[in-house]
Amino acid sequence: MYRGEKQTAEDIGGDVAGQLRTLPAVDELLRHQQTAPLLAMYARSRVVEAIRQAVQEARSRIQGGQGAVVTPAVLVERAAAILAAAARGSLRRVINATGVVLHTNLGRAVLSSRAQAAVCQVAAGYSNLEYDLSNGRRGSRYNHVAGLLCTLTGAEAALVVNNNAAAVMLALHALAQGRKVVISRGQLVEIGGSFRIPEVMAASGARLVEVGTTNKTYLSDYEAAVDAETAAILKVHTSNYRLIGFTSQVDTVDLAALARRQGLPLLVDLGSGALLPPPYGDEPTVQQELAAGADIVTFSGDKLLGAGQAGIIVGRRDLVAAMQRDHLLRALRIDKLSLAALEGTLLDYLLGDAARDIPVIRMLRTPPEVLHDRAVRLGAMLSAQGWHTAVVPTEEQAGGGSLPGVALPGWAVALRPTGVSAQALADALRQGEPPVIVRLHNQQVLLDVRCLEDSELPQVAAALAAQLGGKI
Ligand SMILES: *Cc1c(COP(=O)(O)O)cnc(C)c1O
Repeated sequence: MYRGEKQTAEDIGGDVAGQLRTLPAVDELLRHQQTAPLLAMYARSRVVEAIRQAVQEARSRIQGGQGAVVTPAVLVERAAAILAAAARGSLRRVINATGVVLHTNLGRAVLSSRAQAAVCQVAAGYSNLEYDLSNGRRGSRYNHVAGLLCTLTGAEAALVVNNNAAAVMLALHALAQGRKVVISRGQLVEIGGSFRIPEVMAASGARLVEVGTTNKTYLSDYEAAVDAETAAILKVHTSNYRLIGFTSQVDTVDLAALARRQGLPLLVDLGSGALLPPPYGDEPTVQQELAAGADIVTFSGDKLLGAGQAGIIVGRRDLVAAMQRDHLLRALRIDKLSLAALEGTLLDYLLGDAARDIPVIRMLRTPPEVLHDRAVRLGAMLSAQGWHTAVVPTEEQAGGGSLPGVALPGWAVALRPTGVSAQALADALRQGEPPVIVRLHNQQVLLDVRCLEDSELPQVAAALAAQLGGKI
């Protein structure tokens, strides 16, 4: 970008002091014609600061013996780049070429068009968030989706909070504070982001009673543990790992029968919370858990459901009402944008074709032939640029604490750079604009196409084109 970058101050015939004197003043740069659009776009103080920084960088280069003649236009261009980088913000879109549909680090679920539109509408104007349009009185934010959730799951009542961790916390606080909750040792899970069931239970004020062993728990273990101080039985779905081999856990049906005999509620933390059976694996749906006798089921909005962050509580009316009365609810409440995303997504389940309209469901169900075709098209774009590519099969997991141990058959473009390491190429792609997030395998960069929209393929190709130059 800097003209004569390779020349030192000596080469171009001036001493350092002379070079420094050629640098234009900040005021002069502010009056430069190319600065006008920057002043129209950004606060003046920010433009001044960016210009100062550009001049300071040039000054340091000269002082370091790497001085070059820098024109005002080049300095303003550099200031524009500094401002553009700041304006991009920190939280931004990335291209997910990892193949992991529910990547917690990449924001989990991509929203459906209907959910996106609902968010934009509520974001851009006022809404009836807590206002009853039928009588002009105060309404409740919880009513907007409760009916939809009951229709879709068959539950009597529903409540939504900030996320599923909050849902579990609220359920335990409202129903079991100061009393005992019985749980299998095989279900004392950590979900990630340091959500550990034992700690959440402690924070809620419920007392944990662990029964069974890590691999085996029987109904008799639960029976023996229940006493007068017991408030509930909790079953936690092992949604991010799998107990395999010599194992045994008690089915919801049997736990529900025990809970009924003892007059206790059975709470099921389902985690991933599918409304439709996933195409692979044997994940129970929310409806199945309720039909099996769970009194309360809690699950995430942004895992297999495919909405935004939310914690959903469905089940018995009296238990949900107790949670609704709990003062903790105020601290755990869902915000209007997440609520809009949730309602839009639930409407897709009710009115649309979920497998077509909800990106998470669509990505999980894309047939391998379609993924293969997409990988072939991306591979052709990249080999036309000169990269060494191959289209390879993949077996990625769904991610985000969903469908553990289930390998989804997919396809990727494998790319083997020769001038640089695969790691260096992955790093460069991550730092590009937009960032492209890839996986590495056997010294190759893997571009898994499961989570790529067709419209993103040219963007991935452009990101790789920008990395050409001695790297093939
Ligand atoms: C993911 C998960 C949670 C936490 O849900 P968030 O919505 O991420 O807060 C809790 N329990 C189980 C079993 C989970 O899988």
